[in-house]
Amino acid sequence: MQQQTSVPGGPGEDPRRRIPRTDALLAEPAVAAARQRLGERAVTDLVRAAQERARAGEIAPEQVLPALEQALDNARPSSLRPVLNATGVLVHTNLGRAPLSPAAREALADAAGYTDVEFDLASGLRSRDRGAGAREALLAACPGAEDALVLTNGAAALVLATTALAAGREVVISRGEMIEIGAGFRLTELITSTGSRLAEIGTTNRTHLPDYDRAIGEDTGCVLRVHPSNYRITGFTSTVPLPELACLCHDREVPLIADLGSGLLAPEPRLPEEPDAATALAEGADLVIMSGDKLLGGPQAGILLGRADLLARLRRHPLARAVRVDKLSLAALEATFRGPLPPVRAALRADPDALRQRTAALAARLDGELVAHEGRVGGGGGAEVPLPGWAVALPGALAAPLRTGDPAVVGTLREGRLLLDVRCVPAEQEEALVEAVQRARDAAAPA
Ligand SMILES: *Cc1c(COP(=O)(O)O)cnc(C)c1O
Repeated sequence: MQQQTSVPGGPGEDPRRRIPRTDALLAEPAVAAARQRLGERAVTDLVRAAQERARAGEIAPEQVLPALEQALDNARPSSLRPVLNATGVLVHTNLGRAPLSPAAREALADAAGYTDVEFDLASGLRSRDRGAGAREALLAACPGAEDALVLTNGAAALVLATTALAAGREVVISRGEMIEIGAGFRLTELITSTGSRLAEIGTTNRTHLPDYDRAIGEDTGCVLRVHPSNYRITGFTSTVPLPELACLCHDREVPLIADLGSGLLAPEPRLPEEPDAATALAEGADLVIMSGDKLLGGPQAGILLGRADLLARLRRHPLARAVRVDKLSLAALEATFRGPLPPVRAALRADPDALRQRTAALAARLDGELVAHEGRVGGGGGAEVPLPGWAVALPGALAAPLRTGDPAVVGTLREGRLLLDVRCVPAEQEEALVEAVQRARDAAAPA
């Protein structure tokens, strides 16, 4: 739609000549301020884009500055945009897994500048124990562990553990636990990439203690127990209970590593099937591995808990430096343990009746329908456990404008309708959700 405006400059004048020049726009106070926030390059790109819109006749030359100011207001310093997770899936890998608690966000901001991550402010000396705060908080939360080590993520923890304990040797693993997580990430390929060999035992559905017994030998570096967090084998199945496996490993003097995946430090009443570090260690696992950003509700991190001598070996391994966790994650992780219940755990425990009330009120405001909707823990654990809850059903046509709005809202499409589940939407963001739906309605309304 070409929109030729009439011309103050006289008949025949090309309106494009009135498009403000780049240097004039850059000198505007709002634009200069934005350069401080967003950087030269981003601002210049937005200036060009606004001029381009005027050249294309999409806006009048007089609208270039207001349009630019609007674009600068909306611009974010990174391409990652905040999303309201209305899917009801607690640990949604595509949406960044666990949202941080307010305490963790504050800690993150504190650590963003210079910080005493390896410096003792009292003595003025370099201190050796990077990550001491997170380690102490972890041990306080899981007193059954002798020591703790935090790395970049769960996969890194698995790589370091198998490399330090079994490089060039064998990792004994049940065929029922040889899993793939996420997009083509196979635990087994990760382990063999470290130079360990797999000693696969048992079958997909059944593995017995004698299978482990026969496999353990001279060449065994460790025995690995993996919690298949994203699927379940039912029917004619059998796995060896951890205490029995631990007894065997202890007798044969091979370390037993339990990859718990999900990341619970202690039993969670809502997820009775989900393994936790305290129980696994009490049952005799030598090391447990878990992720920081799944059910633990913290930043991305890989957490190892267990025997001090084994963790000392891992710490000394050269690879440990390559998977060292950054100060931001350390700060957020410590605050996650010390602070209030993380959002993921609060959402897990949300009372279905309270959710129903909240959702019904929202449905009334949004002129939608209240429908039953089950939440999920997500790829991070409790694969099949439904979390009874509710959703507001809206026309499916709102899905796209909601996803591309600011903040973006992601719900679930079911039978042509968009379901918005507020389990994972913080109460203080409900207003933002309502406004987003109103804007999406305006955008989707026929002109
Ligand atoms: C998620 C998961 C991992 C990988 O952890 P990341 O923190 O994503 O690297 C490893 N093992 C299991 C069992 C998992 O569920």
